[in-house]
Amino acid sequence: LKITDVNIVSMIERLTSLLKPDLEKSNIRLVMDIKARELKVKADHELLEQVLINLIKNAIEALDGAENGEISIAVRRAGARKIAMTIEDNGPGMSKETIDRIFTPFYTTKKKGTGIGLSFARQIMKLHNGSVTVQSELKKGTVFHLEF
Ligand code: ADP
Ligand code: MG
Repeated sequence: LKITDVNIVSMIERLTSLLKPDLEKSNIRLVMDIKARELKVKADHELLEQVLINLIKNAIEALDGAENGEISIAVRRAGARKIAMTIEDNGPGMSKETIDRIFTPFYTTKKKGTGIGLSFARQIMKLHNGSVTVQSELKKGTVFHLEF
């Protein structure tokens, strides 16, 4: 683990601009709710980046073929030493049974999925003394919450 001060706002901006072609190809609207220009977290830059990519890619994949697909990303300070981030999509959502299994290694519902993204995300967030949790409802969408 290589911990440095990471500005999560600029990390999100960089990643979303990298993923812009994917978003445009799938006609997905990206809504950013970030008021601060800088929010610093102590993190391993590369691992955190990988976690965010996994979550955003999952949202893009969940919206595959959807009309009016939208992904919202918000990040804010949530206390003196806490940063809260959410990645939300208005895709198909998940059943209760699926929700219970998504953080298990190799669990996937995709033809070409690996099932590694979310178990990796959970492990990495744990290593950062943070957390990743999910809220999801069928036909409504999914929200992943990250805390640092
Ligand atoms: P993979 O993407 O390879 O399937 P992940 O660990 O990233 O593996 O995700 C595990 C499973 O969680 C997915 O196969 C999917 O069923 C579910 N999932 C993850 N993100 C979403 C999302 N945003 N909307 C609906 N289902 C999701
Ligand atoms: Mg994935």
